Amino acid sequence: MENTSNFIKTIIETDLASGKHKEIITRFPPEPNGFLHIGHARAIITDFESAIQFGGYTNLRYDDTNPSKEDDIYVKGILEDIRWLGYEPKNVFFASDYFEEMYERAVLLIKKGLAYVDHTPADEMAKERGNINTPGKESKFRNRSVEENLELFKMMRDGKFKEGECVLRAKIDMSSPNMNMRDPALYRISFAEHHNTGKKWCIYPMYDYAHPLEDAIEGITHSLCSLEFEDHRPLYDWVVRETEMPKIPRQIEFGRLSIENTVMSKRLLRELVESNMVTGWDDPRMPTLSGLRRRGYTPEAIRAFIVSTGLSKVNSTAGNDMLEAAVRDDLSLKAKRVMAVINPIKVTLTNYPEGKIEYFEVPYNQDNEELGSRKIPFSKHLYIEADDFVVTKPNNKYKRLALNEEVRLFHAYFIKANEVKYDKDGSVIEILATYDENTRSGSGFNERKPNGTIHYVEATKAVPAKLNFFGPMIHDDEDLSLQESFNKDSWTIKNGYVEESLESTIPQDKYQFMRNGYFNVDRESKKESLVFNEIVPLKSSYK
Ligand code: ATP
Ligand code: MG
Repeated sequence: MENTSNFIKTIIETDLASGKHKEIITRFPPEPNGFLHIGHARAIITDFESAIQFGGYTNLRYDDTNPSKEDDIYVKGILEDIRWLGYEPKNVFFASDYFEEMYERAVLLIKKGLAYVDHTPADEMAKERGNINTPGKESKFRNRSVEENLELFKMMRDGKFKEGECVLRAKIDMSSPNMNMRDPALYRISFAEHHNTGKKWCIYPMYDYAHPLEDAIEGITHSLCSLEFEDHRPLYDWVVRETEMPKIPRQIEFGRLSIENTVMSKRLLRELVESNMVTGWDDPRMPTLSGLRRRGYTPEAIRAFIVSTGLSKVNSTAGNDMLEAAVRDDLSLKAKRVMAVINPIKVTLTNYPEGKIEYFEVPYNQDNEELGSRKIPFSKHLYIEADDFVVTKPNNKYKRLALNEEVRLFHAYFIKANEVKYDKDGSVIEILATYDENTRSGSGFNERKPNGTIHYVEATKAVPAKLNFFGPMIHDDEDLSLQESFNKDSWTIKNGYVEESLESTIPQDKYQFMRNGYFNVDRESKKESLVFNEIVPLKSSYK
């Protein structure tokens, strides 16, 4: 699947054919300030597959140049998610390990007259930068001498200035039509503690300076990133060139992936977590890889989905239906098909002997014999879905149980509803039915056509289960704040029953609950209290 052609592959092929590169090295460079989401999966797959198909490799590099937002839990979580997706980085690096070299290269820029320490206050500096229509204005500190800049930069490093008091800037072109080239900041001061270097540094390189150096230091040949960095490419190339890096990486941008009605920025996802609107980064409603995993998505489905979205030079939005279709495709043959009743209602077979239990041997998945089979119980006491019963059959399209109608129970007998018991509010609490012992499925021909086929679980052996259902986490309305657009009804819980064979199921086991959907055993599930997450409903609803 991963061998689809795309514009990046074409560039790499050309570079190999011309002898520009002998080995392809890419990197995935997340900032460890949150967990990965499904948008990152596009970047990961693109980075890894672009190298793998040419026998090259990929580094995982934490872009940890911003001390205040980064954390070790994200460092661990990111690697776990990448491995889960099916990729193993050749090396795991930290941008912060290159701080000394970055510093030395900045000193080189100063010596070449290409960087200066600027004491202009931030708001004034922003004004001086101008905008697309107005050229910027040169700072009054722009022409400080090399000696003075060297000394001031050293003082920055030594903690002699306060946060925000000054920055190191590249001296490029204040009138460039590309705003990124208007003397961008290279270093800023921060006294925040860094997750890796602790208190060693109080100056930190800006992304646009650090990233090209990180790539060049690692010998990355093709630095693949999303489209918003396109305008930064001239600066990327400037940094690599002017710092005289021996190896020259090439930045190539691809379109970002969005999914309809899905927040995908780490900042917003973090806000959802920190304000406790969701239960954590791996909340099953979250579009994070850890959330999708907990919900029950498989890495195969995610990879197939990403490939199906195509890779292009423009940003794109995929529908949730594509993601759902990918997981159904993947689970259709892999998942055991079992019976679970989500909204149970009691059925008592008045002509079935009390105390008798029969077991029927049933394959787990008719389309995949390798999954084997299990025995399902049958007795006088059953549960069916409340939705599968109405007192009076409304019309001939209705293909479920009704009073005086007969249905087939999957893998078992025909039953006919004869009588209904109500509670004092008038709701049906029990259906009294009879079964026909000559209709045992597979055991001989029968001429009657039942009014549909429904599923059930035998009541005395049924295992109670908590069933989680998820709706869209966010209402689609751009004018609302995150708090306002959060769908408070996006997680509903039902208490149902699953068949006996699921008694010892463990987290991450996946099932198709017949006629309902695909379900994953949640990480909080225990033998005494099973918990399932609905991954996706079945494609065509049976109703
Ligand atoms: P976010 O905007 O969600 O916070 P980010 O771009 O800040 O994401 P990084 O940790 O910097 O997150 O991302 C690592 C890599 O993943 C970057 O190269 C980025 O281009 C890529 N990436 C992030 N989101 C997407 C997306 N939606 N589609 C494609 N690539 C993405
Ligand atoms: Mg980023």
